[in-house]
Amino acid sequence: MKTLKELTRPNIWALKPYSSARDEYSGKEASVFLDANENPYNAPNNRYPDPLQGELKRKIAPVKKVFPAQIFLGNGSDEAIDLMFRAFCRPGVDNVVAVEPTYGMYLVCAEVNDVEYRNVKLDADFQFKADDMLAAADGNTKLMFLCSPNNPTGNNLDRKEILSLLERFEGLVIVDEAYSDFSDEPSFLTELERYPNLVVLQTFSKAWGCAAIRLGMAFASSDIIGILNKIKYPYNINRLTQEEAIRMMEQHYQVKQWVKSLLEERGRMIEEFKKLKCCCYVYPTDANFFLAKVSDAKKIYDYLVDNGIIVRNRTNVTLCHNCLRITIGTRPENDALLEALKQY
Ligand code: PMP
Repeated sequence: MKTLKELTRPNIWALKPYSSARDEYSGKEASVFLDANENPYNAPNNRYPDPLQGELKRKIAPVKKVFPAQIFLGNGSDEAIDLMFRAFCRPGVDNVVAVEPTYGMYLVCAEVNDVEYRNVKLDADFQFKADDMLAAADGNTKLMFLCSPNNPTGNNLDRKEILSLLERFEGLVIVDEAYSDFSDEPSFLTELERYPNLVVLQTFSKAWGCAAIRLGMAFASSDIIGILNKIKYPYNINRLTQEEAIRMMEQHYQVKQWVKSLLEERGRMIEEFKKLKCCCYVYPTDANFFLAKVSDAKKIYDYLVDNGIIVRNRTNVTLCHNCLRITIGTRPENDALLEALKQY
C-alpha cells in the first residue's frame, strides 16, 4: 500500500479542520454552556449534538468488534462514499475502479467530484477477477469499490478475489457491506487489522430497519477514519438519529429476528417466483432482494405499478436486460406481488 500521505489529496492532508465549540470543550462536568450561540430554551433540541458521536460509537464498537476510533458515522453510507472521493481523489487527475453493474452512487459521486470512473464488467455469474481490476488501474487509481453482496445482482463477490485485491492494490479497497447481514459469509471487518488499505461500509438502512434516520458506518484504520472526520460537516449526525441508533443498538437481537424471517421469506418467494409463467430465471442471492429475468421487464413493471406494487426495473443496467430487482417484504406484501403476477 502507498502511504496514507501519498494517497490523500495534498490540500486535505494539510487541512486544519473547523473546530466547533463542542470539539474544544470536552471532559469536566459543566452545567452552564455559553459557548455555541445556542438558544437556552427548548431543551434538548436547543443543543448541538456530539460531533464525534462518542456514546453511539462506544455502543457500536463491541457489537462490530472494532475500536471506536475505527468507526466513522455518516448521513447514510452515501456520505462516507462521497467523503472517500473528497479525501483521496484529486478532481480531473485521479481515478477509481469499480465492477459493473454495481451500486449507482459510486459513479454519481465520482462525477460530482470530477473523478474518472473506470468499470470492469462482471462475468456471466456476476463475479470478477482481481487481475482485471488491477489491469484497469494506473498510478493515479486511488480507490476500488466492491459491493458484496452486490447491488443489483444480489450475490457475494468472490472472497478470494477481494483478498487478492487487498494484497496487491496500492490504494484503498472499499468493501460495501450494506447487505452483508443477510449473507452467511463473514464480514470483512475481521480483516481490518491485516489490511490497512481496507474500508468496510455498513448501514442502518437495511437489516437494521432504519433507512429514515440516515445513518451509515465506515470502518477502517484510525488514520483513515481521522481523515474522514477532518472533512465531514461538524455536526453531521443529528441528535435524534444518535438517540434512535443507541436505542437500536440496545435491541440488536430484534435485528437478528427480522433477518431470520426475511431469509425464510426470501427462500419461499424465490421458489414461488420461479413457478410464474413470466419468470425466466432467478439469480442466486445473498441479500434481502433478488434479481429475476422475466419475459418483458418494462411491461411487467408497468402492470405492477397499475396494481399499486412497485419493484425496481433494472432492464437498462449492464448484464441485467429484462431484469427486475425485487425486495423481500412482509409475507402479505410478497403474496400481493405473487398474486398479481399470477394474473399477468
Ligand atoms: N450501498 C449500497 C450497496 C446500497 O444499496 C445503498 C442503498 N441503496 C447504500 C450503500 C446507501 O445506503 P445508506 O446511504 O442508506 O446508508
